[in-house]
Amino acid sequence: MKRKRSVETLAAQAGVGADKAYGAVSAPIYTTAIYRYDTFGNHRGFDYSRSENPTRQAAETVLADLEGGTRAAAFASGMAAISAVMTLFAAGDHILCSDDLYGGTYRLFEKVLRPYGLSFDYADMGDPAAVARKIGKKTRALFIETPTNPLMKIADLREAARIAGDRGILSIVDNTFMSPVLQRPLALGADIVVHSATKFLGGHNDLIGGAVIASDPAIGEKIHFAQKAVGAVLSPFDAWLLLRGIKTVAVRIAKAQQNAEAVAAFLAAHPLVRKVFHPSLPGHPRRKLHFSQASGPGAVISFELEREKAVPRFLNALKTVLLAESLGGVESLVTHPSTMTHADIPLEEQAAVGLTPALVRLSIGIENADDLLEDIAQALRKAKR
Ligand SMILES: *Cc1c(COP(=O)(O)O)cnc(C)c1O
Repeated sequence: MKRKRSVETLAAQAGVGADKAYGAVSAPIYTTAIYRYDTFGNHRGFDYSRSENPTRQAAETVLADLEGGTRAAAFASGMAAISAVMTLFAAGDHILCSDDLYGGTYRLFEKVLRPYGLSFDYADMGDPAAVARKIGKKTRALFIETPTNPLMKIADLREAARIAGDRGILSIVDNTFMSPVLQRPLALGADIVVHSATKFLGGHNDLIGGAVIASDPAIGEKIHFAQKAVGAVLSPFDAWLLLRGIKTVAVRIAKAQQNAEAVAAFLAAHPLVRKVFHPSLPGHPRRKLHFSQASGPGAVISFELEREKAVPRFLNALKTVLLAESLGGVESLVTHPSTMTHADIPLEEQAAVGLTPALVRLSIGIENADDLLEDIAQALRKAKR
């Protein structure tokens, strides 16, 4: 049997082969809305760029390959990608989600989709008994993040997929935090993977994009239909930026993750830090489970300062690490989840899952590790005063 090409090779050669006319190694950017028919009833597979565009198709091909799916669809944002997946469901359906969900996803589910008659429930996806208990007659899918954002809780992808399979419901995984470089949920039994391509896949904080990858061609077809029918497609320019970003995703993640391990270890030993959340740390809950389904800890770290009052001083004192929302890019970023990325989750619910106002989230980039450690150390010194 022919060995499958690895994620690194697929990524480095993203878009190669997309240009049939001249063999351009870099996929061309097809900035066209429409395509001329050869004759009545006959076109070359493209008629209107909301339905298909060659640059977007090149990005979709590599996304499907990276996640090991049969089909991918690229969207104008991660939220558009998740919205398209939700068109698989109808009023009355129930979706069971990870209990520490990305704030924007929670907002979409609770503020936009609940009024349409979908209902959502939240469970610890690392506890198969809790998951099984919360699945009811109306449940149609599990929606999983692992590690979660920002508390780095680990879900059991194999068990969740097995439970979903037994009940004949879908298992959907938001793989944004890990990327296919570190974790490939479809290979562990999941049905659908979604991404905010804005993060690690794009990797340069220069585009907003999203993706859905399906293992079953029939589901892939439904997602493709939703992409065309709803219309939040990735533009040709952004599809090209995404292809360009994907080429280096494996080396970027390797370097960022190495930096993140150094930062996590430094923070864990610091007297002003109460708690550090990163799967690289020996005491991280379900660390073994994480490494049974992912090949690395990733580059996002959350930590709690000893005193909540020190948070603004710490954030303002950082110089190399930029105070900005988002994650997964080459630049290191810091955010305050409680008031920034997760502000749409009511404070009581934040508290219930352990998201405190003392929590700070770092997305570690590919800078020099000592520069990052020095910056964080000086900001912690200033935060103490
Ligand atoms: C950013 C993010 C999203 C939303 O993606 P956008 O590209 O910002 O729309 C969804 N899930 C996770 C885990 C994210 O980090």
